[in-house]
Amino acid sequence: MTLEEVTRAFSEKSIQSFRARQVYDWLHKRLARSYDEMTNLPKLLRLELSESFPITHCETELKQVAADGTMKFLFSMEGGDYAECVLMKYKYGYSICVSSQIGCRMGCRFCASTLDGFKRNLSPGEMLSQVYLAQKEAGERISHIVLMGMGEPLENYDNVIRFLQLVSNEAGLNISMRNISLSTCGLVPKINELAQLHLQLTLSVSLHAPNDRIRNTIMPVSRKYKIEDLLGACKKYTQTTSRRISFEYAMLSGVNDSDECADELGSRLKGMLCHVNLIPVNEVAKSPFRPSSPERVKAFAGIVEKYGISVTVRRKLGSDIDASCGQLRRRRNTEGGIQNDSGS
Ligand code: SAH
Repeated sequence: MTLEEVTRAFSEKSIQSFRARQVYDWLHKRLARSYDEMTNLPKLLRLELSESFPITHCETELKQVAADGTMKFLFSMEGGDYAECVLMKYKYGYSICVSSQIGCRMGCRFCASTLDGFKRNLSPGEMLSQVYLAQKEAGERISHIVLMGMGEPLENYDNVIRFLQLVSNEAGLNISMRNISLSTCGLVPKINELAQLHLQLTLSVSLHAPNDRIRNTIMPVSRKYKIEDLLGACKKYTQTTSRRISFEYAMLSGVNDSDECADELGSRLKGMLCHVNLIPVNEVAKSPFRPSSPERVKAFAGIVEKYGISVTVRRKLGSDIDASCGQLRRRRNTEGGIQNDSGS
């Protein structure tokens, strides 16, 4: 809820409006997880609130810390579901990778989140609780958010938009939209809808191939939305929002990393307000895909750059702790439990 909504809900129960501000500060500034912590509230009121307005929160099931400072969490949600969350340390601060769904139904062949299928959408409160619990666990302020964990955010559109509004709210954690990235595998109608909101966030689009032929073999969503239509929606998005799009491109050895692929990608994106992020694919157990060699990635980047497009190679963080999409939850599901292993 926003502060205004809490104030309204309290007034319907004849609770004074200054209490709404107090509770809101406890929840969003001091990261309280229960009304019992709110010691400046009368005991009776705390009891009433816990019955009328239960607080959504998750619990830490597992925390792993990698040598590079990356932290990976497996958070348990109500109902016994697990969501993964990664906290990455950068020069500019802490960035958190949030899950938007339990599992995923997009079926990208290199991604672990999709292997056990889709279970359910996460609520706005469940997405917020990942950020708050991770901040509490790390003891550091989180300044950036990437919606790149488990799930397809644009398939859980309303909840994700609500989460974005709450987390960027001044009375809440107040994370600037400019510090938030949302990644999609390319749901064209939803990209069009998002453009109309004129949010200042960064839209990342998982392209991973320069044409439908290759994209069809690794991303089932590509059969529904052709690359032509996807890039058309992206162009429209940049025109409507004036925000640069970031294209994600996982480098799969022998699949999408040839010089011809680089040329095709460059010529398709030429002139667009965009950036390309190359990611040597993280190996997932039983997956047939291997990462391209550093030399191949460098050569590929060089070709794309010739088309006037800015290219970066994503730094690998936390690969010693399975810190990529769905790998922890998968281990927990397939092995029936894993050891809590903090420290790498
Ligand atoms: N569903 C959204 C966001 C979740 S995944 C999307 O598809 O964009 C976040 C990013 O990680 C996506 O670009 C996804 O394609 C990529 N990804 C998934 N598995 C990966 C792997 N094994 N190695 C490298 N990148 C991967």
